[in-house]
Amino acid sequence: MKTTNAYLSKTVNELKPSGIRRFFDLASGMEGVISLGVGEPDFVTPWTVREAAILSLEQGYTSYTANAGLLELRQEIAAYMAREFQVAYQPDSEIIVTVGASQAIDIAFRSILDPGDEVIVVEPCFVSYSPLVSLAGGTPVHVQAETEQEFKISPKKLESAITSKTKAIMICSPNNPTGTMLNKEELQKIAEIAERYDLLVISDEIYAELVYDEVYTSMAAINGMKERTILISGFSKGFAMTGWRLGFVCAPKEITAAMLKVHQYGIMCAPIMAQYAGLEAMRNGQDEVEEMRKSYRRRRNYMVSSLNELGLSCHSPGGAFYVFPSIQTTGLTSDQFAEQLLMEEKVAVVPGSVFGESGEGYIRCSYATSIEQLQEAIKRIRRFLEKQTS
Ligand code: PMP
Repeated sequence: MKTTNAYLSKTVNELKPSGIRRFFDLASGMEGVISLGVGEPDFVTPWTVREAAILSLEQGYTSYTANAGLLELRQEIAAYMAREFQVAYQPDSEIIVTVGASQAIDIAFRSILDPGDEVIVVEPCFVSYSPLVSLAGGTPVHVQAETEQEFKISPKKLESAITSKTKAIMICSPNNPTGTMLNKEELQKIAEIAERYDLLVISDEIYAELVYDEVYTSMAAINGMKERTILISGFSKGFAMTGWRLGFVCAPKEITAAMLKVHQYGIMCAPIMAQYAGLEAMRNGQDEVEEMRKSYRRRRNYMVSSLNELGLSCHSPGGAFYVFPSIQTTGLTSDQFAEQLLMEEKVAVVPGSVFGESGEGYIRCSYATSIEQLQEAIKRIRRFLEKQTS
């Protein structure tokens, strides 16, 4: 028999485990840790949403649904997308309900990529994009966002990464890990490039509900872009529903038809009780979302002013629940900073390097935790920095 490792797929073997995991593992064995590491809301899913799932179980709804999801839910998603983001999608042909945004991203890549095809991935970004491109047989091509411009994308740099093999550009706004939101003009510049080179844009809009200063613009709402956008979204962040594993994708019907094939063979459908919960979230969840949004905004303001005061400079991010301060004045790498901060002061943050090359020199702090915990974390970070300079 060969060694067991010899049976593994080369592609999988070459994937590195997520850098975020290492810090979770380190922190989970310690007591008294304040975690600014997690990428999920600290709120429990709104009660009426939980109640809708309970009711669905009481009524005996325990079967599969249509592969694309309950038609009722797709109709609700279409109404929501039109109402909130001014994009019109057909519920019966342009929307698929997925197992989280994660699965939507996975099936998007698997539906459009052949071996050798390239996807431009703008970094720093969510850790899943590049591995999922590779698993789909494609090649991720990394372009670094502009550290000096709040981690926005330089259209010139984007353009220079395009080759004859480029099929799509992957973007995320508001962004994980930087919180940066792209405005209409910035999206338009990316759209012009996509049109000029005839590319698709995969737009991860999972944080679209959590924006604090400006009105959100969806890539699909930019003139001419609905036809070339695969819009990824879901319930995890805005509606505090990470554990339900519910997301969705909106795209031109030829693309959703292809994605549906991958989805039906791989997954069948998203869990029915989660779908009923999602229906309630979209119908009646906006007041609770507004409360959460207000709370995140307060915490963002606190974190941005406190970190800048400590000399860890950061811009005020337009959305999501992350701040991405520079730690360059400490002379430590982001990995050293995160590890030492955890060991010495029991505060868990994520080193920026796990999100891509340009993330080095920064750390990701999630503010999806109580203001008291944030205040304590800032106290500890201050003490940690004082020790560095003494
Ligand atoms: N996209 C981004 C940018 C994320 O931050 C996350 C979650 N961390 C996801 C997608 C995945 O979300 P879901 O829980 O819907 O799979």
